[in-house]
This record gives sequence, C-alpha cells and structure tokens, in this order.
Amino acid sequence: MVSIFSLPRIRRSLPFPPRPDPEMPAPQCASCNKARAALRRPRSGQALCGTCFCAAFEAEVLHTVVAGRLLPPGAVVAVGASGGKDSTVLAHVLRELAPRLGISLRLVAVDEGIGGYRDAALAAVRRQAARWELPLTVVAYADLFGGWTMDAVARSTAGSGRSRSCCTFCGVLRRRALEEGARLVGATHVVTGHNADDMAETVLMNFLRGDAGRLARGGGLGSPGEGGALPRCRPLQLASQKEVVLYAHFRRLDYFSEECVYAPEAFRGHARDLLKRLEAARPSAVLDLVHSAERLALAPAARPPPPGACARCGALASRALCQACALLDGLNRGRPRLAIGKGRRGLDEDGPPREAEPEPSGPPASEPVPAF
Ligand code: SF4
Ligand code: ZN
Repeated sequence: MVSIFSLPRIRRSLPFPPRPDPEMPAPQCASCNKARAALRRPRSGQALCGTCFCAAFEAEVLHTVVAGRLLPPGAVVAVGASGGKDSTVLAHVLRELAPRLGISLRLVAVDEGIGGYRDAALAAVRRQAARWELPLTVVAYADLFGGWTMDAVARSTAGSGRSRSCCTFCGVLRRRALEEGARLVGATHVVTGHNADDMAETVLMNFLRGDAGRLARGGGLGSPGEGGALPRCRPLQLASQKEVVLYAHFRRLDYFSEECVYAPEAFRGHARDLLKRLEAARPSAVLDLVHSAERLALAPAARPPPPGACARCGALASRALCQACALLDGLNRGRPRLAIGKGRRGLDEDGPPREAEPEPSGPPASEPVPAF
C-alpha cells in the first residue's frame, strides 16, 4: 500500500529529520507493541500505528468533554456540519463516543449561499449523514435573513470597498444560523469543529486588532449559553490541525477539502501564516496561545457593561441591536460600511463584529503530516 508519508509535499514539511535510511522499517507502535508505527504524534513525538493513534485521539476528545463538563448525559447535541475536515472529524468522534457520553447527535448544516463552493460541501454532509445514520437539517441564509446570501453580501460590500469583510459578515450570520438550526432540531447544546490552530489564529487576530474584550471572552472550551443562547463548545479545541488531518486519513473519512471562495480575502489568512512561522520556531506556540487566552481577564475598569437583549430579535447585545441585526440593518439600508468598522458608530448596535469564529476551512491536503 502506498503510504501517505511517501508523498513528496508532505515529506518536505516534516518537522522531524527524515530517516537516515528510508529502507529501514518503521519502529513498533509504542502503544500496542505489535504493529509498525505509521506516524509520530506532532506534540509528543510518540510513534504509533494508525489504530492506536485514532484510539488515543478519541480518548483525548472524551477527556476534554468529560473534564470540561461540556456535554452532560442526555444532551441533544447539534453538530455544526460543514462537510470540511474539522466538522467531519468532530461528528465521527462524537458518534463513536455518544454511547459512553449518553448523548444524541443531530447534524446541522448552514447554506450560506456561496456559489461554486457550498453545494459541493453540502453534498459531502449529506453523504456523511446517510452513512452514519444521523439526522441532518440544512438552514439557509436566504431563508433566515430576508433573502441575503453570502454572494449577495459580497456584491453589496464590494461596492463599498469592504469586499475583504465577507468573513466578518459570514462569521456573525453563521453563528446565528447555527443557533436557529439547533433550536429547530430540539438541541440542548451546539458543538463546532474548531481545533487548536483555529483558536490560536483567533487569539492572534484579537491581539493584532487590540480587541481586549474578545480576548478575555475567548478563553475556555466554550460558552455556557448566556442570554438564552444554547450552550456552545469546541471539543476539538485542544487537538492540533495536523492530528485532525491524520485522524481523517486513518479513519478514511470522506470530506470536502476545497477552500471557500472568500477565504483568501480574510484577515485570518495572515494570522494563519504568522502562526505557521511561529510554530516552526516554537512547536508549542499553538497550544501556548490557546492556554494564554484561557488565563486572560479584563481589569475591572476595562470591563464592558453587562449585555442586554437585542431590541429586534432578543439575542444577547451590548447595544440596542445585536451584531447580526446590525449587519443586516446596514445591508438593507444599502450602506454596509455602516455595519462594520468606525462607520458603525452611526448605528445603535452591538460592539464591532469580527471574524470571531468563521468556519474553519483551511485546505487539509497542504497540512504537514509528521510521519516516518
Ligand atoms: Fe463564510 Fe468561512 Fe467562507 Fe468566510 S471562509 S465567507 S466565514 S464560509
Ligand atoms: Zn438582534
């Protein structure tokens, strides 16, 4: 069988020196001591076979969920399913763990209305739902937000010189859409596939923007569901992107790997590039950033007033309108500039919307995979 580790692109990106003699057999798996090791874990350097790696990965996610008390027994969990590698791995792992956790799963996919991208990704979600026999519900921006699709938002913001802000709009609307979908299927909890790299990128972005409020709120494994929102968590938050890719490979998961057409414009891409360079110099940089954010707290004088309810939809808001309503308001007035950046001060609304947690959509094939 051709090993993924023989692929030249992947071998070039190995963080470990290549074996002196490629003919030399890989060492035995450090866990079962029977099979040949198929990879080295990026963080620990432990040599494992594919089976033991997948078992260890699942055990670590289980530990994250149990130790963090993220999903109590009896929870009906809406998995934000995009068809991408992260949400595919999350759904697969939680399906494996569901009997032990005593939870039931529903897949909720969001159709943002992005031509040439989302249809193919949704097809992957439909295949997963059928194969894993999980109920799937698709909610569309166009239905939820008065006809606005992301393509329509992109056309509208392009004229205002804000075409690079698609992910800012999308991150806010997607969060709202997932919440609506989760309520539709009777979920008690929402989970998303953000991994450690996604979270570290978010921390970096918030630092670079000087957004202390988001930095202080961004720690932890999720939010408890303030203001009537469903509790939301990220069970893969401590798993590296490399290991998510490895898990998908060894479990032979079918997922959609193309990048969203608007992703290259996103500020997140700069944070991702910076993080890759940091990680090359300091391999623990990703988790260090995630844990740093957990320990940050705002000084009392810097704390914003407690949030209230959006005058239009009732969602949590620190001004009269929540972020989603404020963005839609700007779009409907034909003045999307007002919905973001400094111009927003003309609107009575929530704090500045950010690419808080857009869907992770990095192309998996280019991920470095540590191996023999
Ligand atoms: Fe939305 Fe993600 Fe595409 Fe940005 S990259 S527009 S957040 S789907
Ligand atoms: Zn609102």
